[in-house]
Amino acid sequence: MEEIHRDDIARKKHPLRLRKRLPQDHFYQEFCNTLRTCRTLLCFSLCQSTKILWDIWGYAYNKPGHSHAESMVLEEIKTFLTQNQPDKTLKYTLTLYMSFSPCNECCYRLATYAKLERRIKINVMFSKLYFPEHRKIQKGLQYLECAGVSLKVMEKQDFVTCFYLFVTEHEAFQEWHCLDDMTKQYSSTLQAILNQCVNRSDCGKDSPGHGAKENSHYQHLLPSQYNIPAESLTPEHHTKHIYCEAETPWKCSLNDLSISNMKSVKRKLFDED
Ligand SMILES: [Zn+2]
Repeated sequence: MEEIHRDDIARKKHPLRLRKRLPQDHFYQEFCNTLRTCRTLLCFSLCQSTKILWDIWGYAYNKPGHSHAESMVLEEIKTFLTQNQPDKTLKYTLTLYMSFSPCNECCYRLATYAKLERRIKINVMFSKLYFPEHRKIQKGLQYLECAGVSLKVMEKQDFVTCFYLFVTEHEAFQEWHCLDDMTKQYSSTLQAILNQCVNRSDCGKDSPGHGAKENSHYQHLLPSQYNIPAESLTPEHHTKHIYCEAETPWKCSLNDLSISNMKSVKRKLFDED
């Protein structure tokens, strides 16, 4: 109990840790796809596309009532590039492993950055979907994918890779019960959300009347056996923005997603305290 308390204090004090490995218990507690906590944990790495060593990496928790993890990481990436890489022609890959998929606000933030910085390929992988039954969240995810960001529900190999890269290479990842089942359920829900984008004539715009019917559809697709009250699922409570995309939408589907081959990525080793 005392250890958990100390953990919570550490998370609030250091919501973003650069070049630090993630404690093993944090990984299992937050990334386990059969558990839902009230936080978002995000592991990230930025790497030049022609290199295998990371330029910057670390992990971040959301800061309740203040910053979302994605927001903090994006600021860190922007600062790093401004201070260290004035060459605007260099291409990068930004990889995010997240315990929850981004909220609609963070979808918008990430999509805006992806459009602004075309030289950075952003891959987002997540263990669990964050309120997929909410229309704003669905639109956020569609908007994000249409901005060229890869979205994927983490499957076993992704957990193995994330554990190896961000936790330790000295121990093997321990699979939990129902991992594959939950991955399948979340994947089919994500696919249904993204496929909806292919069938619409506009991306990011929709008539309000569609919401109720679709919400019941996605509610049906949600993992049901865990019977968790909706209000306990949220790591962040802000759902203010409705997106309006003026550009001609990209036609996109899950088949177009190119998930980078994570096996080729090696962590840059730094001294750690
Ligand atoms: Zn967010």
